[in-house]
Amino acid sequence: MAVFLTGDTHGDMDIGKVEEFSRTARDRLSRDDFLIVLGDFGLVWRDPPSEGEARRLDWLEAQPWTTLFVDGNHENFDLLYAMPEVPWHGGRVHEVRPHVLHLMRGERFEIGGHSFFVVGGAHSIDREWRTPQVSWWPQEVPSEEERRRIARRAKTLGNVDYVLTHCPPTGCYERYRQRFSGFWGPSDEYTDWLERHIEGTFAYRRWFFGHLHFDLPLDEPHTLLYNQVFDLDGCGLTTFGTDVGHCPDGQAHAFEMGWDPPAPGERHGHGFYRCACCGLRLER
Ligand SMILES: [Zn+2]
Ligand SMILES: [Zn+2]
Repeated sequence: MAVFLTGDTHGDMDIGKVEEFSRTARDRLSRDDFLIVLGDFGLVWRDPPSEGEARRLDWLEAQPWTTLFVDGNHENFDLLYAMPEVPWHGGRVHEVRPHVLHLMRGERFEIGGHSFFVVGGAHSIDREWRTPQVSWWPQEVPSEEERRRIARRAKTLGNVDYVLTHCPPTGCYERYRQRFSGFWGPSDEYTDWLERHIEGTFAYRRWFFGHLHFDLPLDEPHTLLYNQVFDLDGCGLTTFGTDVGHCPDGQAHAFEMGWDPPAPGERHGHGFYRCACCGLRLER
């Protein structure tokens, strides 16, 4: 049983890493192996579903593994929430296909020997260019009532191995912005809510999120994924989707996460990936 994590797929737009993953790994995977997309899955989008979407979902269903996704901000929530809701591995999921499942917000799952707490959603930064109920849905962030339920759940949850979200909590988001100024605007009320009601409410080993379209072990607990497919049980990182060459001996890099010691006054050190074999350090 293996668990792989990756970032936003945006329907067919950013699915190349999953195709590459399929080419490289499908022969050794089964239904008890899991690929988790960290939001902006985007294949439950058109109503009725387009031929391309249906074909892509059928393609995912035909893969040997089980595909799971956290919801992001770019999902058709009206369609998604109308899918059959079933109990699965300790939590609740929407069944898009028998082996393509949406991990619902505020649920705890036991998957591949690890425990996960899942909270999807994020605010769209491109909302003003989108049309409500056609390309934007207010359910992209949880309602007040949903938040109360999730926060209550988080308090009684006990510790988990991993937190999976689409959106980062504020502290984490601000550290990201410090490193990469520009494009992304200030943190918002939902990053604040995650910071206040999820971060620090229970202990976890690592928090994975997407949304910011970048691959980075931001700091010790928080890892941002986009094009990487992260092997939770292996050496950590599988470099599908990123051209980083090979070790001098021609072998694939064996990347591990690392963190510099925090600078004076900072709580977390900067993160990077380093090849355990040739020492190549990836950082931005
Ligand atoms: Zn996205
Ligand atoms: Zn997003």
